[in-house]
Amino acid sequence: MLRQALSSGTSFCVKRGLLTMRAEQLRPLRNMSLSSSVELTADRYPDVKRHNFALLDSNHVQFFKSILGQDRVLTDAEELETYNIDWLKMVRGSSKIVLKPKTTEEVSQILRFCNSENLAVCPQGGNTGLVGGSVPVFDEVIMSTALMNNIISLDELSGVLVCQAGCILETLETYLQDRGLMMPLDLGAKGSCHIGGNVSTNAGGLRLLRYGSLQGNVLGIEAVKADGEVIDCLSCLKKDNTGYHLKHLFIGSEGTLGLVTKVAIHCPPNPKSTNTAFLGLNSFDDVLRTYKDARAGLGEILSSCEMMDAQSLDACTSNLKLRNPIRDFPFYMLIETAGSNGKHDEEKLTHTCGTFEKAFRQAYDSMVIFTNTTYHYHSPISTQSFLSYYHVCQSTLSGDGNLHLNVTSKEYDHEILDSIEPFVFEWTSKYRGSISAEHGIGFLKTKFVHFSKSRNSLNLMKDLKKLMDPKGILNPYKQMWNIRESISLALLSEGYLYKYDISLPHDSFYSIIPELTKRLPSHIIRCCGYGHIGDGNLHLNVTSKEYDHNILDVIEPFVYEWTSKLRGSVSAEHGIGFKKTKFVHYSKSQSSLNLMKDIKKIMDPNGILNPYKSIWEPRERITDAYMCDGFLFSYDLSLPYANYYKLVEKTVERLSGCSSVVRICGHGHIGDGNLHLNITSKEYDHEILDLMEPFVFEWTSKLRGSVSAEHGIGFKKTKFIHYSKSHSSLDLMKDIKKIMDPNGILNPYKKISLLVKKVQMYFLKKKNKMLWDIRERVAEALISDGYWYTYDLSLPHKHFYDIVGKMEERLSNHPKVTRISGLGHLGKVKIRIIFLLYCQNCCKF
Ligand code: FAD
Repeated sequence: MLRQALSSGTSFCVKRGLLTMRAEQLRPLRNMSLSSSVELTADRYPDVKRHNFALLDSNHVQFFKSILGQDRVLTDAEELETYNIDWLKMVRGSSKIVLKPKTTEEVSQILRFCNSENLAVCPQGGNTGLVGGSVPVFDEVIMSTALMNNIISLDELSGVLVCQAGCILETLETYLQDRGLMMPLDLGAKGSCHIGGNVSTNAGGLRLLRYGSLQGNVLGIEAVKADGEVIDCLSCLKKDNTGYHLKHLFIGSEGTLGLVTKVAIHCPPNPKSTNTAFLGLNSFDDVLRTYKDARAGLGEILSSCEMMDAQSLDACTSNLKLRNPIRDFPFYMLIETAGSNGKHDEEKLTHTCGTFEKAFRQAYDSMVIFTNTTYHYHSPISTQSFLSYYHVCQSTLSGDGNLHLNVTSKEYDHEILDSIEPFVFEWTSKYRGSISAEHGIGFLKTKFVHFSKSRNSLNLMKDLKKLMDPKGILNPYKQMWNIRESISLALLSEGYLYKYDISLPHDSFYSIIPELTKRLPSHIIRCCGYGHIGDGNLHLNVTSKEYDHNILDVIEPFVYEWTSKLRGSVSAEHGIGFKKTKFVHYSKSQSSLNLMKDIKKIMDPNGILNPYKSIWEPRERITDAYMCDGFLFSYDLSLPYANYYKLVEKTVERLSGCSSVVRICGHGHIGDGNLHLNITSKEYDHEILDLMEPFVFEWTSKLRGSVSAEHGIGFKKTKFIHYSKSHSSLDLMKDIKKIMDPNGILNPYKKISLLVKKVQMYFLKKKNKMLWDIRERVAEALISDGYWYTYDLSLPHKHFYDIVGKMEERLSNHPKVTRISGLGHLGKVKIRIIFLLYCQNCCKF
């Protein structure tokens, strides 16, 4: 069938294009559904209540304008629409204002003000988040990083990029590509998402398998806390072990702990060669076996390993009119390699594809492989024919000897062009070079491509182009990734998308899809799965014409329970946002959740940053809500389960004649037998207090409970402590208090933590190789000189060794110094230097 295709004159680019969901692709989608068609979050989730944050007023707006000017404060309802609605059109806030700061200082001033005014804030990057974290739930102030888009510096040697949080991922990628580097992350939303948003969601994406997570690649962060304090952890060092790694607080905290303003990120070199294979497979077992073979066969050059099922691909072909480059299969895989030597990588990929074929024989019979400059199409595959074809194309590979030849003139001159072309291409061809080492063919080189490609290679390329893109509208190299990256968009166009992003063990990776399909009602459109198989990350999707609560009830909490049972994660890469708040306990232990809450309290005591999201629990704000009633009488008791709630009922009886009571209610940690009994009244009323105290404590004591389950004694409970403590216990407490604090000035319940300094000495084990022996025994050798002053520093490459010279200058005349030297980890992206100074006898410098 391939051969039947006619040759085409269409030019195309074989270099991997930037695959992207650009803002302009995303916006029309959002606009497609005007706000009226997206239900307000407040209506769809009536159990989430607005808390007692201040309402925006004209004084607030005035203040914001005084800092940002008129233009960077948006209040027009129509303009606000896209900022209030998320990409999935799943949640809609009703914020009245969008602020667009440009600098950290502006962010700091705004947050300091919001904190003092009790105004809630929702940080927003590119608004491509898929869990409803990026838009307000109610009327939070939206702080957009769109104008914080400066690239601050790039150290091309170490590959460290420092930029503001609002830089669009794709812009950074383009900037780096021109300098031989790349971003360590890549995702379908790259045309719109911001690096600050990526960091805040700890985005995974398509390169994680090879380059690891942002936790590893982000070297430093600058962020502004809720109270406006700027936390400067903007280290550019790859090794910096000086205490707590505070930047990790902000990576993945989804704007709940602070607003990320700057990021320092380590960028790997751009691979000189990328190859992509698109495979069709008959079962999910085959997917797993292929993944295993890909890992074993491709090793360090394997950069992506993606899977999608037939339904996911069908969404792309039906809704976006993308073409499936091979015939229909139940499953597909996209495997990408990225390396520094095209020949080597292609050999590995070819060999591995041979292994796939041997392993499965009948498993799949169709595959497309795109390499740097060639296409390989194979259907059905046979190793022999594949390899023989491969060798035909192989001869045209360019290798790495890449010359950029440049001629300049004041203005365009046809005569100059005529003297250069086709001479340059003929010359290149004579030496079996390539007329396009890395820039592709584009428009300008179309007519010269035959200087680098054999006739049969060109014919095959044209055949392929025709087959895969008959109308010639698509960049074919891009197309394979296009399918994978367009799935979300394709699914979204079907109506309402229920989207889940879970981590599961490989052996149970796909089984949830058929299981869930069985349970779902027939009026869904589809239930499908795709994802980053290499990372064990499945994207489970269900679509229906419109939002239907009955469908949601079938999916949730089933999906989370299933995931939890398999010890997976309910959010592999999209975060918790608003949607998953109440399911986070399926993946996090209670102790972890408690620690997260404690950190949140320290960082944002008033809870103004991204309320209702991430670790937010409506339960936590119950007290705030009570306070809105007026005055709160609050009791925190431990009670036996049998009588846990009886006290609330008893209180209702006792206070029935009290007209000032607004409400009587109980909530608490039932698992710990801890009840919070609360009575609210319009204002303080002594009658209520008299009716409740000591009644509450007597009741508790009778049941052998505790008058203070967790809040302590403080001032208020001092005189009731004997209801829970025996006299002997109380006497002992007093004695201890006297010993520890004879003058009674200290709060006895505070803890003192001791900082214990540990000094460690490492002895390096010998390795077999002599050279390693030398390196590893330097320390031993040096210490035998006498006394050894050793310093372990991180320094930028440029000034890596300067300090040794500097020390030589300073110590050259010192009679006791015997040697000054430096050694360290320079290669493998380590920039640590061990600086050694030592002398015969101990001396102070
Ligand atoms: P937003 O959506 O604006 O915000 C996301 C969260 O971060 C919100 O809670 C927001 O409050 C917070 N936030 C944003 N900026 C800041 C800041 N400067 N400081 C503090 N908090 C901030 N995600 C993946 O992980 N992997 C994928 O492969 C992937 N593919 C996608 C494909 C498509 C087509 C789409 C639409 C989305 C995809 N996503 C993916 C989800 C999304 O793109 C990522 O979560 C991305 O990192 C969000 O960045 P953003 O700038 O759009 O942030």
